[in-house]
Amino acid sequence: MARADTSAMPGGCLCGAVRFAAVPAKNAMDVCHCGMCRRWTGGVLMTVPCAKVTMADESAVKVYASSDWGERVFCGTCGSSLFWRVRGKSDHVAVSVQSFDDMSPFVFAEEIFIDEKPALYNFAGERPRKTGAEVMAEFAAKQATEHG
Ligand SMILES: [Zn+2]
Ligand SMILES: [Zn+2]
Repeated sequence: MARADTSAMPGGCLCGAVRFAAVPAKNAMDVCHCGMCRRWTGGVLMTVPCAKVTMADESAVKVYASSDWGERVFCGTCGSSLFWRVRGKSDHVAVSVQSFDDMSPFVFAEEIFIDEKPALYNFAGERPRKTGAEVMAEFAAKQATEHG
């Protein structure tokens, strides 16, 4: 699922104040069912992992630190949910699939924090579904690798 094409893909918010170009790390969309993502988006957070995001006007966004390690970036004018990223890191950004101008290259790869999903809805189809504990363990292992 790695991307051969490393070109940046354009996207933006509802009102157009935020325009960005993001380089997807892979053509994969992940869906997060955690309580924070659901409150933040008004739905579920559907994101594509991106290695690099550049914005035309950084002053157009606001940043909310939602935990000790994560932060959420949204349009300061229309409130569109745009990016989740590790605080202080800009090279690992989960970009809302909904904000891309063209989302046709992406496939539905996995669902995370499945243990926080309310019984009210389900996504059809089969794919990996991971609990919050499983995701956090993977994240910790990845951080340990990256930082030696
Ligand atoms: Zn906006
Ligand atoms: Zn979440």
